[in-house]
Formats: sequence, C-alpha cells, structure tokens
Amino acid sequence: MTKYIFVTGGVASSLGKGILAASLGNLLQARGFRVTNQKFDPYINIDPGTLNPYEHGECYVTEDGHEADLDLGHYERFLDVHMHKSNNITTGRIYQNVIRKERKGDYLGKTVQVIPHITDEIKRNVMAFGKTGDYDFVITEIGGTVGDIESLPYIETVRQMKWELGSDCLCIHLTYVPYLSAAKELKTKPTQHSVKDLQQEGVQPDIIVLRTEHEITDDMKRKVALFCNVDVKAVIQSKDASSIYRVPLNMLAERLDEVVLEKTGFDINQVPAPKMDDWNHFLHKLENASKPVCIALVGKYVQLQDAYKSIHEALIQAAAYNDRKLVLTSILSDDVTEANVAELLKEQDGVIIAPGFGHRGFEGKVIALQYLREHGVPTLGVCLGMQAMAIEFARNVLGQKDANSMEFNELTTHNVIDLMEDQKSMLNKGGTMRLGAYPCKLKKDSKVAAVYGKELIEERHRHRYEFNHKYLKDFEAAGMLCSGINPDSGLVEVIELKDHPWFIGVQYHPEYSSTVLHPHPLFLRLIQAAIGH
Ligand code: GLN
Repeated sequence: MTKYIFVTGGVASSLGKGILAASLGNLLQARGFRVTNQKFDPYINIDPGTLNPYEHGECYVTEDGHEADLDLGHYERFLDVHMHKSNNITTGRIYQNVIRKERKGDYLGKTVQVIPHITDEIKRNVMAFGKTGDYDFVITEIGGTVGDIESLPYIETVRQMKWELGSDCLCIHLTYVPYLSAAKELKTKPTQHSVKDLQQEGVQPDIIVLRTEHEITDDMKRKVALFCNVDVKAVIQSKDASSIYRVPLNMLAERLDEVVLEKTGFDINQVPAPKMDDWNHFLHKLENASKPVCIALVGKYVQLQDAYKSIHEALIQAAAYNDRKLVLTSILSDDVTEANVAELLKEQDGVIIAPGFGHRGFEGKVIALQYLREHGVPTLGVCLGMQAMAIEFARNVLGQKDANSMEFNELTTHNVIDLMEDQKSMLNKGGTMRLGAYPCKLKKDSKVAAVYGKELIEERHRHRYEFNHKYLKDFEAAGMLCSGINPDSGLVEVIELKDHPWFIGVQYHPEYSSTVLHPHPLFLRLIQAAIGH
C-alpha cells in the first residue's frame, strides 16, 4: 500500500518546503523504499514555462519535455531519479482537465464545482502514482502558504485523503520560528496561528517542522506539541544549514524519517537503517574543500538567486568533487562592455555563459566571449550561451560583422542562429520549442567526447533556434568544430574550439541532469580545466 505524505507550509514562503520534501524522500529512499516527489503549484498558469524567471526562479525541464517548477530540480538532485510531467501540477492544469472533461460531457449533467470535481481531479493526480504500484511513498509538496485562497482546494484534498486513508496519509507542516533579537527570544506564536489555519480547513498536521535560526529547546517543542495537538517527538527543528545538502542529515538526526515510518505503521526495528555513505562522502568533500575555484556566470537574470538554480547547484557539486570551494561571481551581461570586460573577467578560473531569451544582455555575452576565446579561459556556453559563442566566432573570426540570431534580427544576412524550415511556417502561431531529452552523437576524438567518455548521449533541451547548417563548413575550416550532432535531425548540439584549452558550447542544458550522486561531466571537467588539470 502506497503511503501519501503531504508537505504544507505556514507563516512565510521560501522556508524550504522543497528541500524538506526532497530530504525526506532521500532518507526514505536510503532505507530502501521506492519514493517519488510531487509538487502542486496553486497558480493558474498551465505550467511555469511562460513565467519570467524573476517571477518564479528557474524553469526546470524534465526528460519528457515538461517545463516545471524548480523544486523538481531539487527532487532530481536529491533522489537521483527522473521527474516527469505528472510530478508537477498547477491549478491551471487541474482546471484545464476538469473543463475539458466537462465539455466532453463526462460529468453527466452535474453542476461542476470546486468540491468535489476540482478536489477529485487533484486527488486523481496524487493517487495515480500509487496506482502504478511503483512507489512505497509519494511525497506531495503543496506550494504557497496555508491560509491563501489559492491553496484551499489542495488543503481540502489533504483533508479528504487523510479521512479516507487514515494512517496511510500524513501531513507535515513546515513553519517558521522567528527570533526577536531585542527580547532575545524565539517565538512560536506564528506557528500556533498557522496550525490553527490548517485546522480550520480541517487538517490536523501529524508532524510540525520548525524552521529556525537558533536552537529550539525541548521546552519549546513541548509547548508547540501541546498547543498544536502533535506528539513531542513529531515536533522537529530544522535549523539553518550551511548547505541544502546537509538538510537530509539534519532531518535524520531529528528522526524525521523515523517518525514518518512509525506514523505510517512501520515497526522501525524492522526497517533497514538509511545507507548514506555516498551522500556523506559528497558532503565531506563539500564541507572540507578550502582551496577556491573562481567561476563567473554571465547572464541577464543574475540579480535573482534562483534564476540559474540548476547551473549553480551543478557547479557546487562539480567543485566539491574536485575538492574545491566554489566562489561564484554573477555578472549581469548588460553591464559587460569592451572597456570593462578584462577587469570583470581577469580573475576568473572559468566562465559559464548562461541560457536566456530575448535580446537584452546578449551583446555583453558576445563581448565576454571574445575575451574568453582570445585569453584561453575555460568556458562553457549553455543554450543561448552556445548560440552567442557561434555568433561571436562568426563576427570576429569569420569576419561576418552582421552575424546574428534570427531571434533578435530577422533582417541580417548572416543568421548564424536560425529557425528550422518547418518552424518558420509555424512562427506566426508562436513557433515551437525543442523541449526535453534528445539524443546526440559526439564526434570521436573531440574534446566533448573525452568529457563524456562515450559517443552517444542524451540531454535536455529548451530552445527554439538552432545553429544554421549553412555555416558549418566555414566554422570547421576556421577551427570551431561542430562536435555533437543530433543523429535523427542532424542539428548541431555541441561546438568546441580546437585551439583553446576548454571552450565548449552546448545547445542543450546539462545542468538539469546533474545530481549529488552523479554530477554532470561537463561541469566536472569545466572545474578541472579551471583549476588547471
Ligand atoms: N533563446 C534561445 C532559443 O530559443 C535560447 C534558449 C535558451 O537559452 N534556453 O533558441
């Protein structure tokens, strides 16, 4: 019987529900259980694909081509399993499904309402995982904070499922315990209020996790237990951690997994202890690396910490495995000029040119790339970053001064980055995006084939424009090799510079598939090149 664990949040947003849900998944998995994580987002967009990164952080892409919430990235990084479209559901999708069914007549003349039709649709999306028989635990995170109008139907679904499933369904509520420095006191009142909100909606939390900057005393735990009707053992502190990757171990020390197992009917003495050796090995490296490696990320959304989440995490992982401490400098590409580029980049051991959409900040990327190419700085171009590499090369090496991308300038004579013919006809309808995993064949003896140690790879995409084949010969003759090709369509996936220590551009997004236990080879090798190995 599959057990369903819901993670709700109260008091404030951004408390780390995603990391908590991923950490619990990680611990249960380490005890041998089959686990999946799911995220509900209470907004009306069908998916976050259309959201500006400033609104909602990075858009994560799953293997099956779903544009997803960035928490799915945490789930993959922590659990080392692939997420799919069904792991991320928005209110928009729920309503879309219900309205589609209504139009088809599936509701047989009934008045379609939030309860039971919307809640049934939510329930169906949670329980579909149980039906596969593939999972012992489904951990579902509910976005937003309890008390929001938007999250009401989700909380109502939790209420119904708890009622129907008894101890096979739990609710973990994450709250914040603020510290008042003037009074030198931690305050549990907001937690009590937030639990009341949840109770008012009919849900009694089984476990309360208190996010805090200071140690919570046993007395305070007892107080929370008493006021919120939970066992003292089920009041768990989650103190600020030095790294998100420490959270599973903190939760293990607080016995979160044990409480979950006991409450869902397991005899804890019969359950294997969690195997955390590989995780601990990584954490040891992460926490003991002292020598720095300086990497710059040049992009247009760098002011927002979450906008390039997966790249950041992939770099942290890769630096740790190379026994280096990552020193990441974010450079707003709009600010890069010919006058300041050397100053901005001269201290860097390696650079990543970020993905992106639209023209703003693009020319700064091109200026940075000219410097990086000419000065032999290890550089990885990701998606738009790779396209910028191609354009810089065409302008400054091939002498095509007006080389550009069709995305910015339809009139240029040198569209080095272009739309495919079949896409052009669809442009008026919004065009098409290449989304999700596609195969790529790497050229034997290329630098990128050495990075991967194999010739056939599969990587995730999220872009519309492509390298224009018309320029392939000129590029290769001048020393820019097209070293990765899609075997089905012939599209260029990887370019690399022959006479440069490490200058690789990839049309895909390697950052999405870098996990703690399987860091991505491109990031590992970029760091290696950056530290001179
Ligand atoms: N804007 C570019 C395209 O659509 C690159 C997209 C990206 O970097 N993800 O092709």
